[in-house]
Amino acid sequence: MTTRIKTLTTVSALLLAMALVTACGDTPKAASGNNPATANQGADQNGAAAVNGDHVKNNGESQEQQGSDNQGAGENGSTDGEASGNSANAGNGPDMAAASDVNSVAVLVNKEFALPDEYNPADLVYPNVRFTFKEKIEKRMMRSEAAKALEELFAGAEEDGIYLAGVSAYRSHKTQTSLFNRYVKRDGEEKAKTYSAVPGHSEHETGLAIDVSGSDGKCAAEDCFGDTKEAEWLAKHAAEYGFIIRYPEGKDSITGYKYEPWHIRYVGVEIASEIAEQGITLEEYYGAIPVTANP
Ligand SMILES: [Zn+2]
Repeated sequence: MTTRIKTLTTVSALLLAMALVTACGDTPKAASGNNPATANQGADQNGAAAVNGDHVKNNGESQEQQGSDNQGAGENGSTDGEASGNSANAGNGPDMAAASDVNSVAVLVNKEFALPDEYNPADLVYPNVRFTFKEKIEKRMMRSEAAKALEELFAGAEEDGIYLAGVSAYRSHKTQTSLFNRYVKRDGEEKAKTYSAVPGHSEHETGLAIDVSGSDGKCAAEDCFGDTKEAEWLAKHAAEYGFIIRYPEGKDSITGYKYEPWHIRYVGVEIASEIAEQGITLEEYYGAIPVTANP
C-alpha cells in the first residue's frame, strides 16, 4: 500500500508537468474527423486542454474557482458533500480487492493501473439505447451489468425530458493499441500520450465506461457538453443508476484527466452514490492518492 501511494504520488506529480489529456482522446474528434459535426472544434479542444493544464498547476485553488461553472457538479459537490457524514456504510470502507479485480465492476483503471494485455470482457452486450450511429460495432458494446444500468439511466432521463445518445463505449485492447500506435507513428510517443491513452490504461477497455451526448450528437465528447441540460441531468442523477462522472471538474491532478462531463463509468449504485455524495473520485474512494498528504 505504501509503495502504491508513493508511486501514485509520483505519477500525479508528473501529471502536473504534462498537458492534460482527454481520456477519450481517441474518439472520432482526435481521430481526424469521423464526425463531421465536430471537425472544426478539435482545435478548440486542444486549446482548452492547454489552458486546463495551466489550471492544474494552481490546483489548490482551481476547485473553488471552477465551482460555479457547472451547476450540476457544483450542487453535488457542496450540498451533498456536507451531508456525507450520514453515509450509511461508514465504517465498512471500500473493498480494496475490487480495485485490482478485472472482473469487478469497481475495477480501478487509470494512468497508473492498467488492465492485463490479454484482458477481454467476457460478457459484452449491445445496450438497447440510442447511439449517435447505427452500426452494431465494438464501440456500442458494454459489459452486461453496465449495459442494463445504462438502459435504465436512459429511460430515467427520458422521463425527465432528457434524450441521451451513446457516442463511444467499449474499445478492445487491440483497437486501443492500433489507435495508439497510429498516433505514435504520426506524432511520436510523447505527443501521442497527451491525447490518447496508453493501451491497457483506457477505461473504455473495461466495457464499463461510455461517452454520452444529447440525442442531437452536438458537443459529443467536447467541452461544450458541460453546458448542456443533458450534462446537468447526468451530474445529478447518474449515481442513482450506478454511474459516476469519472473525471470531474477540478480533480485533474487526482484522475490525471481534465474535466470530461460526457464520460460516465459504471461502478454499481452503492459506490456511485458514495462517490457522488462525497464529491470524490474513484481514486479517492479507494484511498489510492492521499490528497491531503504532502510527502
Ligand atoms: Zn470516454
